[in-house]
Amino acid sequence: MNIREKILVVEDEKSISHFISTILNNNGYEAMQARSGTEALSMISSHCPDLIILDLGLPDMDGTEILQNLRSWSSLPVVVVSARSHEQDKVDALDLGADDYLTKPFGTDELLARVRTAIRHTRTASGNDEIARNGTYTVRDLTIDYNKHQVLMRGENVHLTLSEFRIVALLGKYAGKVLTYDFIIKELWGPRASGDNQILRVNMANIRRKIEKNPAEPEYLFTEVGVGYRMLEGD
Ligand code: CA
Repeated sequence: MNIREKILVVEDEKSISHFISTILNNNGYEAMQARSGTEALSMISSHCPDLIILDLGLPDMDGTEILQNLRSWSSLPVVVVSARSHEQDKVDALDLGADDYLTKPFGTDELLARVRTAIRHTRTASGNDEIARNGTYTVRDLTIDYNKHQVLMRGENVHLTLSEFRIVALLGKYAGKVLTYDFIIKELWGPRASGDNQILRVNMANIRRKIEKNPAEPEYLFTEVGVGYRMLEGD
């Protein structure tokens, strides 16, 4: 039997903390609860959790302070939970090193998907074991061939430009995870590339036209409004 992964739920609202912990405990994880930032930091060192679910609005400190503190010494995966509708809070948290975010209210499936993805990405250096094994990433009808630099839909080569391929390849490498516009731009065009999203948006529109049945309702490449993009994750 597998050892249950320990997840620290940092949340001051009892009902939400209980809701999250129950879902986790019922799905093969071991949930632990912290009600404040101070308690969270001490439990992180004493209990060594495998993942942290972190509410940004805590009574004694802002969740981003915990994130900053944690990232100075650990790469432990963190999924941020926020009631805030402002996209900038999510972008800031991701830029500070959060692995993903959930916006309240969220459902069971969404919570479990984020947790699975965040834990999976800490397991392999490449971020995606299928790519490490076969040099490909496949989800439904889409295959990204990292050796041949090709994207296939139902086995047919989708003719992408180099930039378009690199965007799809990057999202595939982190499938299931949201990548901020800024992260994608810097990965593709270097640290000094302009923070302007325009080129990225144009490329994404072209990619969707080539890949998606209905580009307005994508099945593979999702927009996280004001934050970035996420590729569908396989099972
Ligand atoms: Ca709170």
